[in-house]
Amino acid sequence: MFTYVNSFDKSWVMLMANVEGKTVVVKENYLVTGRAGDVVEIDVDTFLCKGCGICVEMCPRKVFEWSSELSEKGVHYPVPAHAEKCVKCKLCELLCPDFAISVRW
Ligand code: SF4
Ligand code: SF4
Repeated sequence: MFTYVNSFDKSWVMLMANVEGKTVVVKENYLVTGRAGDVVEIDVDTFLCKGCGICVEMCPRKVFEWSSELSEKGVHYPVPAHAEKCVKCKLCELLCPDFAISVRW
């Protein structure tokens, strides 16, 4: 599973994964490009989403909540219920294994 470390001022994050018992750095010094509250569009393609939860767990601002209804695939999918908290880091878009999220501004 992935873990991330935020710098104190939240200007970067280090993203790490546990691979066969070893911690490896996946991405570091990833610049957080926006401020919470800026206009942002977060789209989740409910046809592509398989409900794995990576985006829900990894979003540093806890933007997503689970849908109450099921998608065409029969899974609950993430809803950007707190989009105003998004800081445009794009971690959700980068980590989604099914390319189901796009973050634009
Ligand atoms: S870009 Fe995605 S992961 Fe980053 S804060 Fe916004 S919703 Fe969360
Ligand atoms: S990471 Fe992608 S596939 Fe997994 S729940 Fe989020 S949108 Fe769906």
